Amino acid sequence: MLLNIERNLEVVNQLIQQAADNAERNIEDITLIAVTKTVTVKEVKEAISQGITDIGENRVQELLKKYEELGDAVRWHMIGHLQKNKVKYIVDKVDFIHSVDSLSLAEEIEKRAAKINRPINCLVEVNISGEDSKHGLEPTEVKSFIKKLDEFKYLRVMGLMTMAPYVEDPEATRKYFKGLRNLSEEIKKIPLNQVSMSYLSMGMSNDFQVAIEEGANMVRIGSAIFTTEA
Ligand SMILES: *Cc1c(COP(=O)(O)O)cnc(C)c1O
Repeated sequence: MLLNIERNLEVVNQLIQQAADNAERNIEDITLIAVTKTVTVKEVKEAISQGITDIGENRVQELLKKYEELGDAVRWHMIGHLQKNKVKYIVDKVDFIHSVDSLSLAEEIEKRAAKINRPINCLVEVNISGEDSKHGLEPTEVKSFIKKLDEFKYLRVMGLMTMAPYVEDPEATRKYFKGLRNLSEEIKKIPLNQVSMSYLSMGMSNDFQVAIEEGANMVRIGSAIFTTEA
């Protein structure tokens, strides 16, 4: 496969800039997370040499394999569904877990993080579209869930994450991103101690411009960087 990561990143960054301009937002407030699940360490290194600072993986085993070679040269984001029994392998390595979707998972993260005395940034995953195939809490469950996590000492809720349904026309995803932003605004009105709503992790290769226009400040982009041929 012929890859031109440099060129692809240039295009992606231009599109991020365009979307930020449309929304009158500062591009510096938007973190591009390069999703490397389909690529080798060699390609990740190429992306890092082109300025990538944040890496997203959706499987623990892949993350560990790459972490072994890259270590703390980048920030690590666990973006995929996380099984409780795997938390212990990543809790000392990742900077963000984007996929907190149950109380039992949250409790396990809290327990493991306490054990090594390392606070960990987490996002609550919301199934904003209500598709059966998607992970995440129902929007109506999120407030009471977050109130419970507000008691935790090591798990730090920093925001919300969602995946929009895949559709041909990215405009059709706008309502979901709006929905997640509105939910985060509502949560900001609840008196909470630890929890912050600093981040909205939403937008992938096919819909990140719409997500940015609706307030995303973390976008998770894989194929637009790593699979388009030069
Ligand atoms: C794969 C993946 C992405 C990136 O998807 P692309 O369409 O390749 O950009 C983003 N978020 C999650 C949770 C993923 O699993």
